[in-house]
Amino acid sequence: MNTRVVKDKSWRPSQAAGEQRDNLREGAEQKVVFITGRVHPGETPSSFVCQGIIDFLISQHPIARVLREHLVFKIAPMLNPDGVYLGNYRCSLMGFDLNRHWLDPSPWAHPTLYGVKQLIIQMYNDPKTSLEFYIDIHAHSTMMNGFMYGNVFEDEERFQRQAIFPKLLCQNAEDFSYSSTSFNRDAVKAGTGRRFLGGLLDHTSSCYTLEVSFYSYISGGTTAAVPYTEEAYMKLGRNVARTFLDYYRLDPMVEKMAIPMPRLRKERPPPYKYPLRRGPTSSYPISKGDKKSSVNHKDPSNSF
Ligand SMILES: [Zn+2]
Repeated sequence: MNTRVVKDKSWRPSQAAGEQRDNLREGAEQKVVFITGRVHPGETPSSFVCQGIIDFLISQHPIARVLREHLVFKIAPMLNPDGVYLGNYRCSLMGFDLNRHWLDPSPWAHPTLYGVKQLIIQMYNDPKTSLEFYIDIHAHSTMMNGFMYGNVFEDEERFQRQAIFPKLLCQNAEDFSYSSTSFNRDAVKAGTGRRFLGGLLDHTSSCYTLEVSFYSYISGGTTAAVPYTEEAYMKLGRNVARTFLDYYRLDPMVEKMAIPMPRLRKERPPPYKYPLRRGPTSSYPISKGDKKSSVNHKDPSNSF
């Protein structure tokens, strides 16, 4: 799913509407979205969300085709395979919480983390690559809905720009809550992927932890909690993927394909066939109509 986009450092999503981009031009810059999941073995919903992203991106859905033509998606769906195999809740085979070792991972003690970090740094140093998004998928044991953690920056423009993707995702996914999305720089989170890469990558990048509840979500305008299912987690993944279409304002490219496409989440699902299953410290104001994750105990031990 690799294609190229024109190198233009001054480009911003707001300037891209309707633009025809020469994606296959020799030497063009690649815009990369890097996604990781399951660094915490017990957080199984992470895998379903990640599966939803992958299934959608490799499908023939018009949005997926446009995304493949404009972006490069790098996905490491399971950062802690030995921990998953052993049935651990949070740690690896050697007893490490890998999401606290991004600062200095060891090739022998944290090999998967080490490898992924090396790959990310390699891309960061490649002038033909623009690593624009890093999203690490987790599950939360006390909060409801899906939500994100982001970073705090002195650069006000960068700080504000980080809010765009979760706001757009909130519009696309009925189970995603912007009001529960928060931005922080807690010292205890310094070794996480989101914090480390937020400090490493340049100002054009956005790094998030995507959390999804182990239990349920509340849709906007309702009070009843809807239990999550595997399909609902995968649907969140599909909505994460399609939100890049909105962020980069690629809608005109989809419309050129002359295939009917739903634009509202309450409309009928697109003709996309997903496969049978195998096998907060500081917050932005609550958006009007946003869903509330009412069961927020802010238990640090449960946050990513
Ligand atoms: Zn986690």
